[in-house]
Amino acid sequence: MAQILDGKEISKQIRDEVKSKIEALGEKPVLAIVLATKNESASTYVRIIQKAAEKVGIKANIIDLSENVGHDELMAAVKNLSEDTKTHGIIIQTPTPKDIDIDEARSLIPLEKDIDGANPLSAGKLFSNLESFAPATASAVIEILKYYQIETSGKHAVVVGRSRIVGKPVAHMLLDLNATVTICHSGTPDLTPYAQNADILVVAAGKANLINDKQVGPNTVVIDVGTNFNDQNELVGDVDFEPVEKAVKAITPVPGGVGPVTTAILLKNTLDAYLGQTQKPT
Ligand code: NAD
Repeated sequence: MAQILDGKEISKQIRDEVKSKIEALGEKPVLAIVLATKNESASTYVRIIQKAAEKVGIKANIIDLSENVGHDELMAAVKNLSEDTKTHGIIIQTPTPKDIDIDEARSLIPLEKDIDGANPLSAGKLFSNLESFAPATASAVIEILKYYQIETSGKHAVVVGRSRIVGKPVAHMLLDLNATVTICHSGTPDLTPYAQNADILVVAAGKANLINDKQVGPNTVVIDVGTNFNDQNELVGDVDFEPVEKAVKAITPVPGGVGPVTTAILLKNTLDAYLGQTQKPT
């Protein structure tokens, strides 16, 4: 049986720390979340962040725009928040309406308020090893590895997925931690030889059961970022958990792995933004 890398435990530790620091401040940092969709998972995710924020003393201000909001109106809302001295962190929840240029909207988030590393300039800073906020999910993967003291230096890390918010930043951060990194993606004809060769396997593809027990070994550490709903409408990751758990050294569960750590990091980053601090991501 594998070691279970418990994201809830890490999340609690981060949130407790954030809470006590905010209590000492005596003032509430403000996190603004721009929501322009009726998509159920997006709305649920925003409610989870809002609840978690309030528990640690962060005010979550949901800017609930219509799913038919026009480009100019959404840009104006983000610009307003960017100039509002009482707003410390900004997230633009996806999906946004199809006419919205999401990169243009994200570019309006000042880097010091860009607590989910969404502005393309934050990405540029991350890839140049300059201080910035990294995407929270990528930071969560690294946080889990660090918390459980999983060695990255000299190890072979295989990242499945190359998105700008997960795969690419995780790969870069692992590289920075001295891992030898392979990135697999939808154009990789067969994941098996790469996965089998991984010391650390980070899976962020959004495909249930993408990784099975034949693709891993007794020394593999598996970080499952994926979130999917199975036929029973249960939340599952990208890894076929039951058989894989029996075959590997350590694994994150879904739910209870990367997700709660991501939320906690968004809160920590909001506090850091309030304090005027960004950090080196690794
Ligand atoms: P995305 O759709 O932007 O990217 C998916 C990536 O997976 C792509 O780069 C694609 O090339 C790759 N891919 C798809 N099918 C593949 C296959 N068969 N083999 C190899 N690679 C394949 O998704 P994303 O935003 O990067 O998110 C990835 C997953 O992580 C999703 O399930 C998402 O819901 C989840 N997620 C979880 C959290 C969290 O906090 N737990 C946060 C963000 C995203």
